[in-house]
Amino acid sequence: MKKRVFSGLRPTNLIHIGNYLGAIKGQIDLQNKPGFDCIYGVVDLHGITTPYKPKDLPNQIRNLALDLLAAGLDPQKCHLMIQSQVPEHLELAYLLGTIFPVSRLEDLPTYKDKKAENPGYLNMGLLYYPVLMAADIMLYKADTVPVGKDQVPHIEITREFARKFNLMFGKTFPEPQAYLMEGAYVPSLKGEGKMSKSIEGSYILLTDDLEMIRKRLAGAPTDTGKGTEVPQEGGVANLLTLVELFEGKDIRMKYESQYLHEGIRYQDLKHDLANAIYEEIKPIQEKRKFYEQNSNLVEEILEEGRDYCSIIAKETLREAKEKMGLV
Ligand code: ADP
Repeated sequence: MKKRVFSGLRPTNLIHIGNYLGAIKGQIDLQNKPGFDCIYGVVDLHGITTPYKPKDLPNQIRNLALDLLAAGLDPQKCHLMIQSQVPEHLELAYLLGTIFPVSRLEDLPTYKDKKAENPGYLNMGLLYYPVLMAADIMLYKADTVPVGKDQVPHIEITREFARKFNLMFGKTFPEPQAYLMEGAYVPSLKGEGKMSKSIEGSYILLTDDLEMIRKRLAGAPTDTGKGTEVPQEGGVANLLTLVELFEGKDIRMKYESQYLHEGIRYQDLKHDLANAIYEEIKPIQEKRKFYEQNSNLVEEILEEGRDYCSIIAKETLREAKEKMGLV
């Protein structure tokens, strides 16, 4: 039997190269492997937990679907769905919420971060985020979840949910594993933390042109270019990680050697890095135009995804409710 894969992205209109390398590349990798049945979601119900404009949301959802298809999700090899079109996600989340302590959710670093980012927008949805995410994965009995490194604690929580449910009501759900790629942690351009759409100045978007990429890289902090040890953290370390991800390990080693000897010229490094990033994302921007011009095709892909997912979701939910004594 094929292994089931699920992962999703929030529709925010700002898909960056961290999302691409960390999550989307893993999704593509798995769809191309035999033996995996892949479901990928535009997780709009997660999107509404942080401030947003209702009138913009439909476009954001559509834009993410276009971004994912342009980046390489292949409708012949995976199913693409919109989370809110399969309401069973919410019902399973509620059921899972009844077996989990609130204190465990309040202690999660991701919840604390979001709380700090949006102090004026603290809502139940934010606290419930990992519960809904566990439901997203468990609804399809997925065992493989391609995500970035920052999501690993949420996958751990999902495993806890599965273990607890199985213990209380009998074996029902597999314990899923995160599937991490080489770019599972793409650092911020600001010198600390990860690249994130919620931190202005930290990211390069999949839709950026070469000029914009150069502009964004120009803002990344550097140093004198020379020293007795190559920095392991901060702006220079982050730039070297990006060099490795987009230009390869050999080029990174060339710069490391320059740092210890003649010195790095950051202007040249940033120039070449911008070219390499643009080379990688240019074909995605071109493919996006194709999908923009074929909106009926995108509709069909999303309908197929919804129908495929609804069948599995109904079946799992029926089983979970029966085990909990609800049918
Ligand atoms: P963001 O963190 O920018 O708000 P999301 O929370 O919507 O993005 O994350 C969508 C996917 O992209 C998740 O699988 C997440 O782990 C991955 N991801 C986000 N940022 C990065 C990053 N800097 N490096 C690698 N993967 C990332």
